[in-house]
Amino acid sequence: MATSTRQADALVDFDAVLASYDPALGLEVHVELNTNTKMFCGCPAVFGGEPNTQVCPTCLGLPGAMPVVNRKAVESAIRIGLALNCDIAEWCRFARKNYFYPDMPKNFQTSQYDEPIAFDGWMDVEVGGETVRVEIERAHMEEDTGKSLHVGGATGRIHGADYSLVDYNRAGIPLIEIVTRPIVGAGAKAPEIARAYVAQLRDLIVALAVSEARMDQGNLRADVNLSLAPKGSGVLGTRTETKNVNSFRSVERAVRYEMQRHAAILDGGGSILQETRHWHEDTGVTTSGREKSDADDYRYFPEPDLVPVAPSRDWVDELRGTLPENPTVKRTRLQAEWGFTDLEMRDTVGAGAFGLVEETVAAGCAPQAARKWWLTELARRANESGVDIADLGVSPATVAEVQALVEAGTINDKLARQVFDGLLAGEGTPAEIVAARGLEMVSDEGALGAAVDKAIADNPDVAQKIRDGKVAAAGALIGAVMKEMRGQADAGRVRELVLERLG
Ligand code: ZN
Ligand code: MN
Repeated sequence: MATSTRQADALVDFDAVLASYDPALGLEVHVELNTNTKMFCGCPAVFGGEPNTQVCPTCLGLPGAMPVVNRKAVESAIRIGLALNCDIAEWCRFARKNYFYPDMPKNFQTSQYDEPIAFDGWMDVEVGGETVRVEIERAHMEEDTGKSLHVGGATGRIHGADYSLVDYNRAGIPLIEIVTRPIVGAGAKAPEIARAYVAQLRDLIVALAVSEARMDQGNLRADVNLSLAPKGSGVLGTRTETKNVNSFRSVERAVRYEMQRHAAILDGGGSILQETRHWHEDTGVTTSGREKSDADDYRYFPEPDLVPVAPSRDWVDELRGTLPENPTVKRTRLQAEWGFTDLEMRDTVGAGAFGLVEETVAAGCAPQAARKWWLTELARRANESGVDIADLGVSPATVAEVQALVEAGTINDKLARQVFDGLLAGEGTPAEIVAARGLEMVSDEGALGAAVDKAIADNPDVAQKIRDGKVAAAGALIGAVMKEMRGQADAGRVRELVLERLG
């Protein structure tokens, strides 16, 4: 391809889209399982080894190599299916999905076709205090591909690269692909529903402990299908599929963007090309990928080298007993335990912070303090750097440590913000940052008393007002003392000292 003169796509105002069209959503999420070994061989399935060191004849697709199904991966697939209220197949097979890709050594992906392990489920998603039932069409087992690395060129993408290298370590890592039925009737909430679905699905995967579930590391990858139909027509329009969107926030933005882009094309009398799209995090737009018709022929056929998977009902029942608490029940229970209002709970869930607050509380933090830090300081910083708060790099345990320092009187809320700055800058633990930055509050009564005396001497008029009973005037003196102490004093104690002297 020559240098691209990519033209910005025309967009229609979001409200105008809704006046003329009904959006339909569909989400396909790939979950990389955290099994010790790969889907069909004994190679380690861990992240980040030297390229091509975790491979064998089977996952390299060498002639004569025979695959064997990973029992643990089947177990995880069944548990995910059950948690999504799916039926579990009594008998199902793997199938070969044939296509060429340089990072796919066998030239086919071992997947499942018309016989998925789990099907016909649902998940209830909370969006702005409303429950939306998302129907799950299927959850099937398959294997991941390897990774291409494009060398040279500015973007790391294939265009403009000098050459490409392939790392097959990831080839054969177990994946579960979870596919929704079309989500219709969402209207203006379509972008939020997409985000909430992926966020709650991630919470569920985390609770099941079947994946690391890090979107930024590609353990959980969302493909977002979107189409528009004329308002009230009740049909489904032509869809586009935006691939590998890698944060909750981006899922929401990609849906919104595609709605606005589709509407502009349809308004102009054009038609939507059924294709895959790439999401660009930096510019917030999608660009054309490859054309993809429903008739794409992958020449699927049952995998002849693997026996069918026929999980016994006893095993399925046993696995049902290992499921975590139903997420909706759990939310209700924890809201009561934490004493959150409906609005506080909604904001927590909506911000993708529910699991983080839960873990922070488990680490010993008061629930309201946990909510406050995640939804104010940390949400703001995540927003500024364009990442999900879960990917900010501050752990729930660390947030609990910061709050413990506040409660011990070592720092106050204002100083805690500087501790968060230090944490994001990688300056060490909260205690180390307090020490290194000299943030500890002055608790020496002599020093505090001297600062109070100085403030009184510097502000005789204010002091007189307080002596005359105007206690509200104390704020000015407290402010002067806090300034003198560079914020490193307990304002409550300063107030006591002021009133003691003038009361
Ligand atoms: Zn292998
Ligand atoms: Mn797939």
